[in-house]
Amino acid sequence: MIIYIDGKYLPEGLAKVSVFDHGLLYGDGVFEGIRAYNGRVFRLKEHLDRLYDSAKTLDITPPITKDEMAEAICETLRRNKLKDAYIRPIITRGVGDLGLDPRKCRRASAIVIAVTWGAMYGDLYEKGLKAVTVSVRRNPAECLPPNVKSLNYLNNILAKIEANYKGGDEAIFFDTNGYVSEGSGDNLYVVKNGEILTPHTLNNLRGVTRMVVLEIAASLGITVKEQNLGYFDLYTADELICTGTAAEVAPITWVDGRVIGSGKPGPVTRQLMAAFTAVTKTEGHAIYTKAPAKGKV
Ligand code: PMP
Repeated sequence: MIIYIDGKYLPEGLAKVSVFDHGLLYGDGVFEGIRAYNGRVFRLKEHLDRLYDSAKTLDITPPITKDEMAEAICETLRRNKLKDAYIRPIITRGVGDLGLDPRKCRRASAIVIAVTWGAMYGDLYEKGLKAVTVSVRRNPAECLPPNVKSLNYLNNILAKIEANYKGGDEAIFFDTNGYVSEGSGDNLYVVKNGEILTPHTLNNLRGVTRMVVLEIAASLGITVKEQNLGYFDLYTADELICTGTAAEVAPITWVDGRVIGSGKPGPVTRQLMAAFTAVTKTEGHAIYTKAPAKGKV
């Protein structure tokens, strides 16, 4: 496996970061999860915009431009001969001392890892996922905005640990106001009476897949309402859906012991799953062409 790290393409065993990198010491850095389908990187611009906006919020100056990052992603895929892949760009604060002060970190580091990763939930796209609501609350925006995709995923990991102990395939977070926030690594949607209801994106990550799903819903003429949701809405949903780059579009058919709807992936979920697959087949940033012209990512 070839990994991009600070201008070099290195074999996995040689791609190293310092033990003084604040990404390791403090989770001080940002990342993305992106998929490529059949030689095309899906929604590359949206992912890079979020990566660089996350970095800006944390006052990290990326060592390379968005266009250079786009090229590093494409070149990493080419060097690994990957057409279908899960891609992990990372920007860490860089090497500093053992203190917190980011001013001691002279230069941020940029890394790109790309691996083969098929359908994350295997046969659960047919059966449906079991989800459990967890007691740990999503980081409130006034503490660490969930819109920032930072290397500090401990809030999500705590949720995942709780879901694991409770026998869930995925966790459902509430925010500190008591409203449904998101899954540990995906956005959530209730389908009720033919409409899609989904939380606002102040207290969760603004998912790129969410954006795509809302575009698809609009094109299919399905009404989408962004609103506060609670336990009641989860348990009484006709269908429940989660979406993310890794998870793609997945049905949730069980929450905290309650069977959701018919207990099988419902018609709206199936429609969105099929439409999402179709979109991933028809668009994306081609890997096997020249580097994008400036500002054209
Ligand atoms: N929420 C969280 C906490 C996530 O980690 C992810 C995965 N990036 C998502 C939502 C879904 O975002 P996206 O569709 O951009 O992958």
